[in-house]
Amino acid sequence: MTADGTDGSAEPVLWLDEIRSEDIGTVGGKGASLGEMTAAGLPVPPGFIVTTDTYRTFIEETGIDEELFDAVDIDSDDSDALAAAEAKAEELILGTEMPEDVRSKILAAYDDLDDGEAFVAVRSSATLEDLESASFAGQQDTYLNVTREDLIDRIKDCWASLFTQRAIYYRNEQGFGHDAVDIAVVVQRMVDAEKSGVMFTSHPSSGEPKIIIEAAWGLGEAVVSGSVSPDNYVIDRETDETVEVTVADKKIKMVKDDETGETIEVEVPEDERNTQVLDEEELDQLVELGERAEAHYDEPQDVEWATIDGEVFMLQSRPITTISEDADGEADGPDGNVLLNGLGASPGIASGPARIVGALDQLDKVGEGDIIVTEMTTPDMVPAMKRADGIITDEGGMTSHAAIVARELGAPAVVGAGVGTKQLEDGQIVTIDGDKGSVTAGAVEPEEQTDSVESVRPENPVKPMTATEVKVNVSIPEAAERAAATGADGVGLLRMEHMILSTNKTPERYIEDHGEDAYVEEIVEGVRTVADEFYPRPVRVRTLDAPTDEFRQMEGGEDEPHEHNPMLGYRGIRRSLDRPELFAHELEAFRRLFEMGYDNVEIMFPLVNDSEDVTRARNLMESAGVDPAIRTWGVMVETPAAALSIEEMGEAGIDFASFGTNDLTQYTLAVDRNNEHVADRFDELHPAVLQLIGDAIETCREHDIATGICGQAGSKPGMVRFLVGEGVSSISANIDAVRDVQHEVKREEQKLLLDSVR
Ligand code: PEP
Ligand code: MG
Repeated sequence: MTADGTDGSAEPVLWLDEIRSEDIGTVGGKGASLGEMTAAGLPVPPGFIVTTDTYRTFIEETGIDEELFDAVDIDSDDSDALAAAEAKAEELILGTEMPEDVRSKILAAYDDLDDGEAFVAVRSSATLEDLESASFAGQQDTYLNVTREDLIDRIKDCWASLFTQRAIYYRNEQGFGHDAVDIAVVVQRMVDAEKSGVMFTSHPSSGEPKIIIEAAWGLGEAVVSGSVSPDNYVIDRETDETVEVTVADKKIKMVKDDETGETIEVEVPEDERNTQVLDEEELDQLVELGERAEAHYDEPQDVEWATIDGEVFMLQSRPITTISEDADGEADGPDGNVLLNGLGASPGIASGPARIVGALDQLDKVGEGDIIVTEMTTPDMVPAMKRADGIITDEGGMTSHAAIVARELGAPAVVGAGVGTKQLEDGQIVTIDGDKGSVTAGAVEPEEQTDSVESVRPENPVKPMTATEVKVNVSIPEAAERAAATGADGVGLLRMEHMILSTNKTPERYIEDHGEDAYVEEIVEGVRTVADEFYPRPVRVRTLDAPTDEFRQMEGGEDEPHEHNPMLGYRGIRRSLDRPELFAHELEAFRRLFEMGYDNVEIMFPLVNDSEDVTRARNLMESAGVDPAIRTWGVMVETPAAALSIEEMGEAGIDFASFGTNDLTQYTLAVDRNNEHVADRFDELHPAVLQLIGDAIETCREHDIATGICGQAGSKPGMVRFLVGEGVSSISANIDAVRDVQHEVKREEQKLLLDSVR
């Protein structure tokens, strides 16, 4: 295909006045916006867009496309491979000549701007840009004051910016194909700005009808990059009056170096530093333009502007994304201010009013779309957690209750943030970033997704076939449907305690209030929801395992023993063996489930140390009418003792051993898993932990015992690679990680196969 139209393909460039918003797939987000502004009669500096087709033509006609996409098809967790991929992409794009017909058309368009004398701004305009996921947007490049001589090279630089390490990583993580993303380039006459800045046509946090203008001397880069404090003007849109003027001390400005044409930073002359940048007339012009832009787009706008010789130009206009629907007129302070940092425990971004939850009776106050802020969540908070859009806790680590449940609900969460309950105010609008672990002031509304975004999103991503089974962890039955939809090979861990504690009663109190049969049925119903959803895929159900401090928060918890260190105390199988009459109810629930035909249910005992624990549990199972010889049952390996006793436990009859790396790590390294002060020492990939696991897998393989992992580390690529290499039978991951783990397992299995034949 050529770009000269001889075979019917599109022109390599489109002028701004030929473009409308629906051309976004050809001109990218920025290009479409400039076209739309031009069409609306707004003063936009003239320019053209080098279209996405031109980028395609370039890579396809020169034949670099295959090599390019092969080069970036890498394991993005391998930082060396990422760096090499970026370098290779750059070498291919920058080192390949632009086809002559394309080159001459671009230069001809340039020559039409100011007779070939123009200094232009060259910016990339990606078709994915409007996704505005913080980690993607803004990664492409901008070049200012570009001349004819450098134009083609700068355009290629913009194309190459599609393959920075971050962009490659991001697309891999999101499952976007590298060959499904296109890039356009904006070439626009530079406005050699005397003054420039930004304008919000409504208050960016509260949405109040006020226009906010920020202004500084010189080119706008100084304001946008934050390297200068600009003047600030507030105009009341109802009265059209300027109600606030704050003149800043503007020490520097960005200007074009007349000799080199480059953008440089210079000091502002003394007499201008504290001088007001905009006069009333300019403010009026800006307000009028802002109102026109808002009317055209029918929503509040965030505008970049510049003036030259008293004439105002608009460089960019886009919807304000920070106004909260819940805004109550109160601004939340400077938008984007980081208020708290913690651990990113459940991915995603959510904004909403903070609801400080200090006591159980306050849960009602958490409504749809709120952000729960609490010391630590408890199982009875699950209904409120479901209503909320996000969760912040003062305490806890990646395997705390809040982290586990938030992941299953798909709600972003930041845990171990320290002082959230004290520092945040009830109703304050905040944004939490569950990847970065940050809490910031103000709101970010999700961007509308454009068609071009949809088109690169894998519609029905194919599940890779793997020899190692990839399962999913479920703690709350309500998450079963979401979990089953991942295509996982079964449930590697269904935690029974979440079902019981969500009633907000300890087992003893529940039985006291409702009777033994109701207690058994509560368990049956919870398990059944999940077993139904997955049938015939296996569902490993773990008997009760909650430490006394978790029980204490429930009704009836006052009778729990006070323990110096609950993590080393009365929990898991120890408690069950100590209270066989209570344990019998759990076993009776299994008996009923099997009787109902749920032969996909498997039984798993937590926190066993040795074969004695196992034998006693098995005997109780038998006495409850569950035949260990025909049912699939096994243990969690969560203590070094268990890892070292695996052979004897095999002799006691277990069918499987599942590594609970949350506990195995805490007990091997003596690092409390819920203590944020030592969170940096919690390392599931510590050689000691890996050795315990590796040796146990080897023993299990010798004795035909299936092995699995159901701790949080099963979602980590490094652990996945290790386990596949060791020959583990199954890996159970968090819902959000299942697809990535499937791919990681497949890659590792293929690598092992290749290695074996090489
Ligand atoms: C573990 O210890 O790894 C595990 C999965 O169990 P829990 O997190 O419930 O203790
Ligand atoms: Mg455990």
